[in-house]
Amino acid sequence: MKSIIFISPPAAGKGTQSKLLSEYYHIPHISMGDLLRNEVACGSELGKKLKVIMDAGGLVDANTTLELLEKRLMQDDCKNGYILDGYPRNLQQANSYEELLNKINKELGYVIFLDIDKELAAKRIAGRIVCPNCGSSYNLYIEDVKPKEENICDRCHHKLEKRSDDNEATIEKRFDTYMENTKDLLDYYKKLNVLTTIKIKENETAINVFEKIKEIIND
Ligand code: AMP
Repeated sequence: MKSIIFISPPAAGKGTQSKLLSEYYHIPHISMGDLLRNEVACGSELGKKLKVIMDAGGLVDANTTLELLEKRLMQDDCKNGYILDGYPRNLQQANSYEELLNKINKELGYVIFLDIDKELAAKRIAGRIVCPNCGSSYNLYIEDVKPKEENICDRCHHKLEKRSDDNEATIEKRFDTYMENTKDLLDYYKKLNVLTTIKIKENETAINVFEKIKEIIND
């Protein structure tokens, strides 16, 4: 099993796809956003600084993200592969990531771009709710990822919440920052011949997208 990197603007469904793949292939889902949010939840000095940056939709510095990632990839459950979501986000991070892979003797694997239009992303953000306990993500506007019981997590039955950075004021900035930073990254992975693009349409179900990803991986 190889590792999978998701390149995806907010609300394209990378969280949901990562969870599905993680269960299907028995590999961990490593979300840079979650690694950073864990640090915020710890209430550490670093966490307090991170919260300000994240709530404003900015990018956390290169050293912090690389250190958190290295610590996570060294854990035993990553030995057969993993799903990396939200990292690398720009060329600088891609270069740092490759150095890290060389150092810990791992392969780059597959790079999958979930391509969504900004208008559809904004609509999906409006419907997104997450579980603060287990990290599951739901969407009121996508039929197959709605919670079964209103506002309750299907997996752990915790009350669902909106993420503090999921609001109209930040979505546009997050989307534009993301696309601006990843443009070069997409070109870079295209040239390396490791990139596959999946276009996310309005009526696309999570299962549909999942089937497309499995086809790429099983090639
Ligand atoms: P996400 O869960 O991917 O939407 O990320 C939430 C927030 O975490 C982002 O708005 C950034 O502030 C921060 N973040 C996530 N991934 C990265 C990254 N690779 N580099 C820098 N900051 C990041």
